[in-house]
Amino acid sequence: MIKLFPQGKTIWDEYKQTLNNINDIEKELISLSDSELKSRTLKLKYFASKEDKEDKNILAEGFALTREASKRTINLRQYDVQLLGGLVLNDGKIAEMKTGEGKTLVSTAPALFNSLSGRGVHIVTINDYLAKRDAEWMGQIHRLLGLKVGLIQSEMVPEERKINYSRDIIYVTNADLVFDFLKDNMVTDKKELVQNSFNFCIIDEVDSILIDEARTPLIISRESVLLVEKYFKANEVSKYLEDKKHFEIDEKAKRISLTEKGLDRTKLLLKVDDPYSIQDPWIPYILNALKARYLFFCDIHYIIKGKDIVIIDEFTGRIMEGRKWGDGLHQAIEAKENIQVLTGSETLASITYQNFFRLYPKISGMTGTAKTEELEFENIYDLPVSVLPTYEKMKRQDDLDFIFIDEISKWRAIAQECLKMYSTGRPVLVGTTTIQNSEILSQLLVTYSVPHQLLNAKPENVRKESWIVSQAGCLNSITIATNMAGRGTDILLGGNPEFKAAESTRFILNKLIGKDKFFIPGINLIKLKRALKKNPKLFVDLQKNLSTLLTVLDVGDRKLNMFDKLIFNLNSQLLTKYKKKTKEESELVKSLGGLYVIGTERHESRRIDNQLRGRAGRQGNPGSSRFFLSLNDPLIRIFGGDKIQETMQKLKIESEILDSKFLSDSLNSAQQKVEGFHYDQRKTLNKYDQVLDKQRKVIYYLREKVLSTTIMRDLVMEFSEGFLDDFIEYLDLQNKKGNNITLSKRIVSLLNRLSISNGMIYDNLERLPKLKKFLYEQLWASYACKEFRYSCSTDSRVLDRYNQLIFFRYIDFFWFKHLENMSFLLDATSWEGYAQKDPFLQYDESAAKLLNYTLKDCRDSIVFDIFISNLILTDNN
Ligand code: ADP
Ligand code: MG
Repeated sequence: MIKLFPQGKTIWDEYKQTLNNINDIEKELISLSDSELKSRTLKLKYFASKEDKEDKNILAEGFALTREASKRTINLRQYDVQLLGGLVLNDGKIAEMKTGEGKTLVSTAPALFNSLSGRGVHIVTINDYLAKRDAEWMGQIHRLLGLKVGLIQSEMVPEERKINYSRDIIYVTNADLVFDFLKDNMVTDKKELVQNSFNFCIIDEVDSILIDEARTPLIISRESVLLVEKYFKANEVSKYLEDKKHFEIDEKAKRISLTEKGLDRTKLLLKVDDPYSIQDPWIPYILNALKARYLFFCDIHYIIKGKDIVIIDEFTGRIMEGRKWGDGLHQAIEAKENIQVLTGSETLASITYQNFFRLYPKISGMTGTAKTEELEFENIYDLPVSVLPTYEKMKRQDDLDFIFIDEISKWRAIAQECLKMYSTGRPVLVGTTTIQNSEILSQLLVTYSVPHQLLNAKPENVRKESWIVSQAGCLNSITIATNMAGRGTDILLGGNPEFKAAESTRFILNKLIGKDKFFIPGINLIKLKRALKKNPKLFVDLQKNLSTLLTVLDVGDRKLNMFDKLIFNLNSQLLTKYKKKTKEESELVKSLGGLYVIGTERHESRRIDNQLRGRAGRQGNPGSSRFFLSLNDPLIRIFGGDKIQETMQKLKIESEILDSKFLSDSLNSAQQKVEGFHYDQRKTLNKYDQVLDKQRKVIYYLREKVLSTTIMRDLVMEFSEGFLDDFIEYLDLQNKKGNNITLSKRIVSLLNRLSISNGMIYDNLERLPKLKKFLYEQLWASYACKEFRYSCSTDSRVLDRYNQLIFFRYIDFFWFKHLENMSFLLDATSWEGYAQKDPFLQYDESAAKLLNYTLKDCRDSIVFDIFISNLILTDNN
């Protein structure tokens, strides 16, 4: 649909010239020393700041330098097709490159090139483990060239974050990046900011982040006890409402609507007249309680961890710590599960990934699976997709689906297939969609006596996720993993020797020095060192116990760092051993056909199925994939329609396995229907979200202005004048209408402060412009007076700081309230849809009005507070 290149032109032609340049420059670089490479980069930095950013020579040299540095540090030379991928990223596009093609390395060159301007580049990964792995692994390349590499990890404190964000190339997870952004927009002191202005980012596994996670906004919230009761009551009410009679479920859209009968019953049960009232709304609570009861299930959509409901990502099966469903759904589920500590929560800040990534002047992304969602990337993010060829020919074989009449026969067949493979030694990776299914299969395999690894979203397994997945290509290994658990981890046939060596080293050392936890590599040996320092005898023991290994180790000088060295040596000895072993094993696995991926359910999107399949046949390895399905699978049940069932009846199929082309085709079209359906949903959500996004920008702009202002006078006066304009306008209007004018308490206090009597206002109703000027002068004088007093007694900066805090207090307060009102508005809007009005226009209009009120209230409160309150002469912050 979207033609990236004129007809007949390939991606190679597009970048041929640049690619040739890079290859030419590389030849020059080979003879240079490391420090010469570094100074070439420095020189390039200088040119990049001076010359045209798009300068092709700088681009080629940047890429060539990265390739050369990569050879020298991590011993990998970027293939031409990898450079090509890098050029695509640099052009602000998505590079679709299959799993195992080395995308981590691909990102280094465009990252380096875009950081030459002196502004940081963010490389966004999906979890802490990958961010750390990539920063350590790829960081060596950048450091050789004199660039600084930053790494953000979830447990880091703000100071560490700030330091890391200030570097040239920063590895960070999507969640950290966004939460830091939201928090930066809540600080009251510039010094507390951790991020710098955005420049360029490369999003790894871009489809996970921009599509799968696009529907749940990231929310910072605080607890409030106000609304708790409503959730409980609504939960009670929901028990007395019947499906089809009182409400209707739209399973496809995950939506529930009340019928007339349902509304009546709700009124009766709650003893309220208008459950839709904006002052005391009940409908959102009731609908959420019903959704919680009929659409969200434990162990499928969430798990209960202690006293928390933790969301399971429906695409990856991974648990999403710290994420919450918005608009009260989360609390409704807590009420359903009767979780004691339930508190309502007040949203302080929220943003979706969609809007967040729009803040960058340029973004790019990489993944193995983007093409099927090309339209969405192009339309919503303005991100074209370029598909890059694989370095070696892909040899994976995707076999036809097996379809079973019911689930029992399906799972039995899968277990039997695993048993069959296990007896030959061929590794199998089974992808499941839910924790429950993983466990069912695991149970079955136990009865078949097939040893296997179970990997699901349960917290106790998350830490081992990468390790288990990395070994899924070992001889005899059977691995069950929820959808894409361990995404980003390379599955090597024969296993991953690095992981194995690290594991064995850890095992040996753990045995020797007790239960202390430390990791290799990544190396946190502080505890070990401390233990050894405290108890030098331990070291002797260590040596004794390691006698066989230590005889071949060079322990060298016996300073403190010898422990590092010792472990390093131990690790590399083991690594050599494992490398040899896995190589042999890899050949064996290849001869058995490579990794065999079994899908157990078609996912709602072809892309997710492709991700699973893509686990096999990496880098030209042999491999195959097959889906085992049943007619009871949700996709067929919900979206397949009656046609499939009918055909089944007609065919009078008796055998268990249906290898029918018709069924497979019907499934494909059902899947595409769902894809389209979800896309539309995301598009609508996005449209509504744009409204809030614009408002967020207004507020954040205001905040930023306050944050960067040191002398507050102008801002205070600007706000005062706005307030006076409205006040005078109000007087004028009332006067013209002949209405009585009532002055609010706050206005009277303000006038008192300024030594103005109420009478003066009434006396001057015919001379309003003059009155306004007078009031304005009084305010100005009052403020000037205040400044003078402060400069005499302490320092006028104290007053400025104090006022700055007043601004923040009200901006934040009203913004939080506004967010809440907006979510109620959104609920209210979907009901208006029934009244034949265009719900979006309705929403947009009301939202604009709402913001207007919010801004006015905020402004007035600031003005009143600044002029009425008795300033305390201390600065609390
Ligand atoms: P992807 O993210 O595309 O799935 P990774 O970045 O995890 O792939 O890399 C997969 C493997 O390919 C890694 O083990 C890496 O060492 C290897 N690799 C990447 N680039 C090269 C290269 N140019 N030459 C040899 N091996 C490479
Ligand atoms: Mg990767």
